[in-house]
Amino acid sequence: MVNNVESIASVPAIMNKGKEWFRSMGSEKSPGFTLYSLSGHVARPGQYEAPLGITLRQLLDMSGCIRPGHRLKFWAPGGSSTPLLTDEHLDVPLDYQGVDAAGSMLGTKALQCFDETTCVVRAVTRWTEFYAHESCGKCTPCREGTYWLVQLLRDIEAGKVRAEDLDKLQDIADNINGKSFCALGDGAASPIFSSLTYFREEYERHLGGRGCPFDPARSTAWADDPTDAHLEVNA
Ligand code: SF4
Repeated sequence: MVNNVESIASVPAIMNKGKEWFRSMGSEKSPGFTLYSLSGHVARPGQYEAPLGITLRQLLDMSGCIRPGHRLKFWAPGGSSTPLLTDEHLDVPLDYQGVDAAGSMLGTKALQCFDETTCVVRAVTRWTEFYAHESCGKCTPCREGTYWLVQLLRDIEAGKVRAEDLDKLQDIADNINGKSFCALGDGAASPIFSSLTYFREEYERHLGGRGCPFDPARSTAWADDPTDAHLEVNA
């Protein structure tokens, strides 16, 4: 028995209207409706109940679109532990098979949307700081890897590393992914892989002392951090 609140909440409607009614929504392998949680740069963030297989474009229509004057840059379909997608993926069906085919996961259906004002390096750094903080320390790849990811990401944001160090970022994530005991390790690696796939050029714009093109003042804060002396400064 799948015993979670969302499953239980759908039972009264199925009892009232029948399983055929429920199966008339969604797709063959992902039937019915579900709850999508839209957050981030959305005009009306919130919980939206909709058939499985709806697209982000349709959900944005329901939620007033991205905030006025801005456009979607990237989004996580199922929370930060699911690979990022971009505005190329607005028409991906948001069911388990559709999102999987696009290279991500539907996960929690907590869709986090970011517009063009967001630095992808900063967003990934914040998520990685969360994973490093939450790592229980039981297994070495996750405990050490998330720590070093944070240090490297902060140095990237400060422009203190070279383009080759982006490969180091990928290597550290590789050494966590699939080699940790629980899903937190894989979740930590996921935004690293996908952001490098879609936004490597944005990472490169930070390097060679240039710092964050979105917020140079914030880069300076990291660059001047006296505790940030564990990585060789090779810019
Ligand atoms: S992968 Fe899970 S078990 Fe291993 S250190 Fe990270 S949080 Fe702990």
